Amino acid sequence: MINVTKTFLPDQEEYLKYVREIWDRNYVTNNGPVLKQLEAELKKYLGVEHFYFCGNGTIVLQIAIKALEITGEVITTPFSYCATTNAILWENCTPIFVDIDAKTFNINPELIEAAITPATTAILATHVYGNPCDVEAIEIVAKKHNLKVIYDAAHAFGVTYKGKSLLSFGDLSTCSFHATKVFHTIEGGALISNHPELDRKLDLLRAFGHKGDELYELAGINGKNSEFHAAMGLANLPHVPEIIQARKHVFEEYDRLLNWDILYKPLLSEHIEYNYAYYPVVFPSEAVMFKVMDALRAEDIIPRRYFYPSLNTLSFMPKQIACPVSEDIALRVLSLPLYVGLPDSDIERISGIINGHL
Ligand SMILES: *Cc1c(COP(=O)(O)O)cnc(C)c1O
Repeated sequence: MINVTKTFLPDQEEYLKYVREIWDRNYVTNNGPVLKQLEAELKKYLGVEHFYFCGNGTIVLQIAIKALEITGEVITTPFSYCATTNAILWENCTPIFVDIDAKTFNINPELIEAAITPATTAILATHVYGNPCDVEAIEIVAKKHNLKVIYDAAHAFGVTYKGKSLLSFGDLSTCSFHATKVFHTIEGGALISNHPELDRKLDLLRAFGHKGDELYELAGINGKNSEFHAAMGLANLPHVPEIIQARKHVFEEYDRLLNWDILYKPLLSEHIEYNYAYYPVVFPSEAVMFKVMDALRAEDIIPRRYFYPSLNTLSFMPKQIACPVSEDIALRVLSLPLYVGLPDSDIERISGIINGHL
């Protein structure tokens, strides 16, 4: 089977080296030395100062909303993974969907202002496929209306925008280190802050809100991660350049082989160094998309409808808001297999099947 993704695993020995240390120490979780080392190395790699390694890429969205004391309405994108919206709902806020830009598939900043009401307190936008949102335009509208900005940067590890890590924008950014992402710790996530005054709060929020047995400061949650997960991060981090290089090769092969007279894909920002996180292609219609998906599945090739459905259409959203661009693209998009070690012959075969069913 050729799946849409395949988890990168380092040589066992690279991981087991850390596991032996953990065993010797008999200290397996709760802000241990391996986790602290991973945080230090990731801060250096990303060039960020205020970085918190956490349990996953969803709890960090919830902690970000909590830390910034966001209430009421949150302007967000319908074209993302459901974790983005679910986090808003779990924090008892109301997602207000603003449609996306048909070129970048990111939230359309020109439509944000019209969605602001007296209840709006924040914007939570996703850098879809690791392609940056229009961060400048979003900052302008947020400042003007005194809104907080959170970026779901789950796809953005290893991406730089204008020379800076894409994880360093907004009041807070969150990342996911799930096994399907470009850099992973099996399960994991991170909070990246631009507010030194939030340091203590973020540190407390991810660990039940207390330090030791005496200082119970606030109602935190279990957002921690373990030494074993941190160890996977330390074992994987040195491989990131080769991982991105290998993904770039697959990406460029699809670019070369697919029929662009009929297909299209999101336009990447010119100001980035990219991580080649996903390979989405948009078909002329949902019918063509299904025809291609069925043809691929018949050969045991499993692409993913990523992202589908458009989140604004989910029945459990408190406010039903139409987003025609997102709804249209969500019906027609497929993410193609993209991972380290996908052979050229398979990329050619996949491209041939797609081109042959358009
Ligand atoms: C993967 C992902 C998440 C959730 O991350 P987990 O680590 O799986 O909780 C959130 N948002 C987006 C856009 C994602 O792709």
